[in-house]
Amino acid sequence: MPDIIQLLSDHVANQIAAGEVVQRPASVVKELLENAIDAQASSIKLIIKEAGKTLIQVIDDGIGMSATDARMSVERHATSKITSADDLFKLQTKGFRGEALASIAAIAHLEIKTKTEAEDIGTQLIVEGSKVKAQEASVTPKGTSISVKNLFFNIPARRNFLKSNTVELRHIIDEFHRVALAHPDIRFSFFHNKSELFQLPKGNFRQRIVHIFGNKINDKLVPVEEATEIIEISGFVGKPEYSKKTRSEQFFLVNDRFIKSAYLNHAINTAYDGLLKPGYHPSFFLNLKVNPESIDINIHPTKTEIKFDDEQSLYAILRSAVKHSLGQFQIAPILDFEHQQNLETPYNYQSKEATTPKIEVDHNYNPFESDSSTQTTSKKNQTVYRKPQTESWESLYVGLESKVSKDEFSPQTFEFESKGNDTFIGTTHATQTNRTVQLDNKFVLSLMATGVLVIHQNRAHQRILYEQFLKSLTLKDTLSQQLLFPSVLTLSKTDVNQLKTVKEDLEIAGFQFSKFENETVEITALPVGVDAESVKEIFNQLIFDITENIPKHNFSVADMIAKSLAKSLSIKTGQQLNEEEQEHLVNSLFACKAPNISPTNKKCFIKLNADDLSKKFE
Ligand code: ADP
Ligand code: MG
Repeated sequence: MPDIIQLLSDHVANQIAAGEVVQRPASVVKELLENAIDAQASSIKLIIKEAGKTLIQVIDDGIGMSATDARMSVERHATSKITSADDLFKLQTKGFRGEALASIAAIAHLEIKTKTEAEDIGTQLIVEGSKVKAQEASVTPKGTSISVKNLFFNIPARRNFLKSNTVELRHIIDEFHRVALAHPDIRFSFFHNKSELFQLPKGNFRQRIVHIFGNKINDKLVPVEEATEIIEISGFVGKPEYSKKTRSEQFFLVNDRFIKSAYLNHAINTAYDGLLKPGYHPSFFLNLKVNPESIDINIHPTKTEIKFDDEQSLYAILRSAVKHSLGQFQIAPILDFEHQQNLETPYNYQSKEATTPKIEVDHNYNPFESDSSTQTTSKKNQTVYRKPQTESWESLYVGLESKVSKDEFSPQTFEFESKGNDTFIGTTHATQTNRTVQLDNKFVLSLMATGVLVIHQNRAHQRILYEQFLKSLTLKDTLSQQLLFPSVLTLSKTDVNQLKTVKEDLEIAGFQFSKFENETVEITALPVGVDAESVKEIFNQLIFDITENIPKHNFSVADMIAKSLAKSLSIKTGQQLNEEEQEHLVNSLFACKAPNISPTNKKCFIKLNADDLSKKFE
C-alpha cells in the first residue's frame, strides 16, 4: 500500500485552528482587543458593521509593528509574547499562542496598518485567505489598525451558521464588556453601523462598571475586598434585590482576564443563600489576583477557562469574602465565623437583633408565604383569611375567547364572588361537590366520567396565554389599555438595546412606549388584561428570553414574545386557586389548539383512568 499520510498545508492548518479560535465575529473582536491591550494601548476604538459580518476594525495607539513584524504576525505560531514553554506560567499578556491573526487571516480579508514610535512611515499589509496580497509603506499614526472584512468568506457553511445580527451583536457587546471591565485604565470606544454604542473614559473599576452598565448600577454595588496569601479579591457584588434573570452581570476577572468558572460561580451563589428569588442571579464584578504560576490558562483555545492549583481554597475564600460583604452592608446577617475577628465592627452580630434580610419579594411567586398582611389578619381573628387572588385570575382573561362566555365569567363577577366564597377556605367549599380540586398548590385534578385529569397549573396556564398572545400577535388584533401613570423602567443600555430589537413586536402585542432610549423604557399602555404590577417581571423575563433563547432556537420573534409573556403572566406553582379559577383553567386549557404540551414542550396534564388505578392496587 502506498504511503497516505501527508502534512497539511499551512492554510489548511490555519483554517482548522480558526475553527477553534474564531467561532463568530465576537471571537475576532476579543482577539483584536486583546492584541491592542498587549501592545500597551491607552486608547482603543472598535468599529463594527453589520454585527461584524462585514467589518470588524480595532484601532489602537500602542507600540505598533515594524514591517517585518507585521508580515510575521499573520504566520502560524508567530508571537512576540513567549519564547519558551516555561513562559506560559509567567504570563503577563493576554495572547501567547500566536495563532489568532493567522487563523483570522485564513478565513477573512485582513488589512493591517501599523507604525512604531521610531519609524516615520508605517506599513500596510493585505491578506486574503492566508495569502499576502500586498505589503507597502503607508502613512499611518503610531499604533495599529486591523480590519477584518467578510468573515468566513471562504467557508460558506460557517457563514450560514452565524445567527441574526441581533444575536451576533449581543455576543460582541458581551466580549467588549469583558475586555473593557478588565482594563478601566484604557479608554475604549465602540461604534456599530456608525452609531456610538459605548464611550468609556479612563477611570477606576467602579467608574468603568457604571459607564458600561449605567448610572443606576452605582447604588447596587457592594464592595468586596479580601487579601490572602493565595488570592487577592477586589470588586463588587450586587445587592440581592437587584439580581437579574440573566447572568449578564457576572464577571470574574482573573489577573485581568475574563474567565468562566461554574465552580467559583457556585461559591458566590452559596454566599447569597436565601437572599435571591428563584430563577434570579446575583450580579458580581470581581477581580481575582493570583500568582500566574498557580493557574493554567492554556487549557482552552479561547482562554476563557483556566485551571487553578488550589480551587477549593479559592472557593472558600471567595464565598466567605462575599458573604462578609453582604453582611457588613447589612444585606444579610453575618453567619460566617471564618471572619470572627471582624465580627464586632461595623455590624455587631451579638448585640443587635438579627435584621431580616431585605429581599424584594415577588408577590406573584408565592403569595401565601410572603403576604404579610394576610398573616397579621389571621393572627388577630383566629381565622384563615385570604386576599382574593384577583390579579392572577384576571390574567386568565387576557384576550380570552374560550367556550365560557364572558358574561358568566367576567373579572368583575369573579371579584364579587370571590370575596364571599373565599373567606373561609376549606369550610364552605368542602361541603360542595367539586368537579375540580387543587393538590399541593401545583396541580388541578379534574374529575371526568372516565377518570381523573391531573393538570399542571403553571404549564397549563402558560399554554393558554401562549396561544392567546401568539394569535393576537399574528393577527395583529391586540387591544391596549392606557396606564394612568406611565411605568418607567431603568435598565442597562445593553438591555434597552436588546429590547429595542423587539420593540415593534411588543407594540403589536399591545404595549405602547413613550421613551425607549439610553437606560430608560417608559411604558404608557399594556395589552388588555395585563396587570401594571407585572411590568417589571414581564420585562425581566423578556430580556432574559431575548438573550438566552434566541441564540438557541431560531423561532420567530412573535413566538418568543408570546412564550415570554406567557411565562411571566402565568399562574405559578405555589399559587392557590379557588374553585372557579380551577374550572376556568381546565376549560380554557381544553379550548387550546394543543392542550397537551406547554410552550416549552412539557406535559400539561396526565390522565388517570380506572385501569391505571387498578394497577396501583395490584
Ligand atoms: P499572540 O497574541 O498570541 O501573540 P496573535 O496572532 O494574536 O498572537 O498576534 C501575533 C503577534 O502580532 C503578536 O505577538 C504581536 O507581536 C503582534 N501584534 C498583533 N496585534 C498587534 C497590535 N495591535 N499591536 C502590536 N502588535 C500586534
Ligand atoms: Mg493575540
